[in-house]
Amino acid sequence: MIETQPPAAETEALEIAGRKIGGSSFAIIAGPCAVESREQLLEAAQIVHDAGATLLRGGAYKPRTSPYAFQGLGQEGLRLLAEAKEQTGLPVVTEVLDPRDLEHVLEVADVIQIGSRNMQNYALLAEAGRCGAPVLLKRGLSSTLDELLMASEYILREGNEAVILCERGIRTFETAYRFTLDLAAVPVLKERTHLPVIVDPSHAAGRRELVTPLSLAAAAVGADGLLVEVHPCPEEAVCDGPQSLVGSEFAGYVDRVRAAAALAGKTLSGVAPLAGVVA
Ligand code: PEP
Ligand code: MN
Repeated sequence: MIETQPPAAETEALEIAGRKIGGSSFAIIAGPCAVESREQLLEAAQIVHDAGATLLRGGAYKPRTSPYAFQGLGQEGLRLLAEAKEQTGLPVVTEVLDPRDLEHVLEVADVIQIGSRNMQNYALLAEAGRCGAPVLLKRGLSSTLDELLMASEYILREGNEAVILCERGIRTFETAYRFTLDLAAVPVLKERTHLPVIVDPSHAAGRRELVTPLSLAAAAVGADGLLVEVHPCPEEAVCDGPQSLVGSEFAGYVDRVRAAAALAGKTLSGVAPLAGVVA
């Protein structure tokens, strides 16, 4: 007799500043790789807002391979994120690298990101668990799904149940793109956990031509959302320009993702209309 898998656990929706992610709600988390300047961030934030994105992303603390590369604007970047949030009303996702920065990051972040390079930084995971804010946890570059799930347990066991898992590509022998997007991770993680699972096609692809097809595939395979890099002018980007979607093309991208998410029974998450207000 063929053994069948237990039924997939129902993903529970998380609510972040009035926007849902998980269940039947699909979230697009979009923005530049790094906060570079006031003009760049505010322009990017307006673009992603106007196109219907759910949350704004942007790094103030950047984990760079080279210690001599731009490391992010730090506290000034956080201040600019606060301004972008004020301007657009979009909740903010931003990465924390060091537990000592957590207090400042939490003044603006609605979701804190723990990046691939820190997926197994257990002290940081536990601190993120204790802080109580929702955590977006990215899969390590060479981590198995079991290791990702165990990393998430370090956050969950502190009593913080608001964890979003993110597949962002893994190291393989293939060199035609930056990482290999492991789309099978989405249904497998959904078999094993009730946590929302999103996909980052930008860091997997490494070049923008691949970002749309990978996004459509991620939506069709049942992801609960996308984390995607967008820049008003990618050729001027300080980091990850080649993989950033061009701001002027972002609205068209959102329309295509919305259609793919609908195939999987999901609706793009926005702000719930105010009671009594007729749209
Ligand atoms: C990012 O999302 O800004 C990032 C640095 O990604 P990763 O940790 O997946 O490399
Ligand atoms: Mn990046």
